[in-house]
Amino acid sequence: MDQLKERPKEQPKELPKELPKELPKEPPKEQLKDHPQEQPKWHYVPQRVFFEEEALAYPLGQQIVALCRELGLPTRQIPSHNRVTGLPGDTPNQKYAQAKKTLVVGVKRDLRFPTCRPSADYQFPLMTSCPGHCEYCYLQTTLGQRPYLRVYVNVEEMLDQAAKYIEKNAPEVTTFEVASSGDPLSVEHLTGSLFKTIEFFGSQELGRLRFVTKFTGVEPLLNARHNGHTRFRFSLNSERVVRDFEHRTPPVAERIAAAAQVARAGYPLGFIIAPIMVYPGWEEDYLRLFDQLKKELASIQPLSPPVTFELIQHRFTARAKKVILERFPESRLDMDEEKRKFKYGKYGMGKYVYPDETAKGMKDLLQTALLERFPDAEVEYFT
Ligand code: SF4
Repeated sequence: MDQLKERPKEQPKELPKELPKELPKEPPKEQLKDHPQEQPKWHYVPQRVFFEEEALAYPLGQQIVALCRELGLPTRQIPSHNRVTGLPGDTPNQKYAQAKKTLVVGVKRDLRFPTCRPSADYQFPLMTSCPGHCEYCYLQTTLGQRPYLRVYVNVEEMLDQAAKYIEKNAPEVTTFEVASSGDPLSVEHLTGSLFKTIEFFGSQELGRLRFVTKFTGVEPLLNARHNGHTRFRFSLNSERVVRDFEHRTPPVAERIAAAAQVARAGYPLGFIIAPIMVYPGWEEDYLRLFDQLKKELASIQPLSPPVTFELIQHRFTARAKKVILERFPESRLDMDEEKRKFKYGKYGMGKYVYPDETAKGMKDLLQTALLERFPDAEVEYFT
């Protein structure tokens, strides 16, 4: 633990040679095509990488520059990680797909961490977005015109700030959520930031970390000194929802296999079942999912501390519906306002959720089914 407390500070180093301000006119397509085959499955390889100049002064910025050179990825220097222009694509659908192929490397300047209810006390945004194309994703609206992937290089500064939050809140335990604005595991092979963050929280008596992922590249994290302070959660859904709406994400069976690896490494384990959707046969599909999960985790009993479940019904806002239908014109997502209940939120904004009776039936069925299969589990909430 002492070693962890004495983490070396990120010292700005001499800037490497400036990166080009423009991408090459002809990206090396033949090289790019080969990368997915060279990479382990589900390892994201961007097609272009943009750097803020200031990011180049950090070791992680330099590490990513070196990786881009090794992979032959086109790079460009940009003035701000919030202003990315000139991405290819004519339609919203094409622009979205191209943004997801773009990695932006920047410095997080605002180190105030927003609150993060109900999952944690504060957000800890190491990155934003992810390579997935889930149609229902709440980031469709929260990231707005910035669906590109963005990683921050000043991780040490963020950890120092987290330590201050934890100290201020002592003797209470303070919990941070890494996945509030993206899927941090999806870029871990490029940054190593999650490993560093997990080890930092492993050293914090009063600090806890949690994140959720749909991705499966867990190997680099299995040996992290987590000290039981990080809850590793996987997002699961019925086979049909995954097939129809969670494009470019690993199949459920692979997520569950990754969860078993994580549980064997001693991490507190959790699952988010979301978004729960009602369609003909939904009950059987979700119960089948729970059976599959029980079977895979059976050999790791007892799961200690108990596994947690968070249950979230599908919801959408008027704005989300508009963006989703622009980006996925053929979407089969059920967003019929007539069949939903409008729930008012902050500032007069609101969302469409299932009617009370449907939501109650959903909660009762799934909660009971989970506790039958995992009697020691904790269902943290249904919303
Ligand atoms: S994997 Fe998660 S963050 Fe990524 S698109 Fe799907 S729901 Fe959104």
